[in-house]
Amino acid sequence: MTRVALVTGGTRGIGAAIAVALKAAGHTVAATFAGNVEKAEAFRAETGIAVFQWDVADEAACAAGVARVAAEVGPVDVLVNNAGITRDGWFHKMDYQQWSAVLRTNLDSMFTMTRPVIEGMRERGFGRIVNISSINGQKGQLGQANYSAAKAGVIGFTKALALENARKGVTVNCICPGYIDTDMVAAVPEKVLEGIIGQIPVGRLGKAEEIGALTAYLASDAAAFMTGAVLTINGGQYIAN
Ligand code: NDP
Repeated sequence: MTRVALVTGGTRGIGAAIAVALKAAGHTVAATFAGNVEKAEAFRAETGIAVFQWDVADEAACAAGVARVAAEVGPVDVLVNNAGITRDGWFHKMDYQQWSAVLRTNLDSMFTMTRPVIEGMRERGFGRIVNISSINGQKGQLGQANYSAAKAGVIGFTKALALENARKGVTVNCICPGYIDTDMVAAVPEKVLEGIIGQIPVGRLGKAEEIGALTAYLASDAAAFMTGAVLTINGGQYIAN
């Protein structure tokens, strides 16, 4: 059966790899982006995956966007809450704008994107929700009080939502990637990145495709018994649980 999967921030980086993996697994995929139209168009041309532009931090835009995807692609069976940003800085120098932008994009988006799809999933008796958190939501990170707070919030949200929907055929899981080779990590200063790679037991950054493969599993029928899980995928950098 072909199911519809919606991936936020699905036109580049980890989200793009997730969208491609879901398509390869047989889903009909829609990918969203914020503002990088050129990148999104190139992704659409390369993969044939439909792309949609809206801000995941904007509640009304998300409701309208999900309705548009439902009309043009189909009701959403699989939602991957992947879109995220960083605005790093030590907390004693951080302004409210840095805090708020990260909390809105990374955590409020759990509400704005999940709320419009969850009732339909419950009614149809099937749903897969995969939320992308981070190693730094598990362990904290210097210069990322905003990001660590948001990503830890994603973990709590995942667990509560998993409990509420377990009887309805809807699973809710969370992936905590370590450092993955994307534009987000390319923004980390080279010296800092060298230090980070030195802390990764497998000795390299992760690949976006490795997160894509895990997400495709979580979206599959085979993963029906897995819900509320927090999956650590970080090359051994932080061994949680
Ligand atoms: P990128 O910066 O490479 O890509 C981010 C994607 O999210 C883009 O498609 C971007 O759209 C979209 N996006 C950003 N803000 C918004 C918004 N307000 N509304 C809609 N879409 C938005 O990020 P990564 O691929 O590196 O990260 C993906 C996720 O994985 C994030 O949640 C991140 O926190 C998490 N993560 C990343 C790690 C890493 O090492 N890279 C490690 C752990 C977690 P556009 O192209 O238009 O800007």
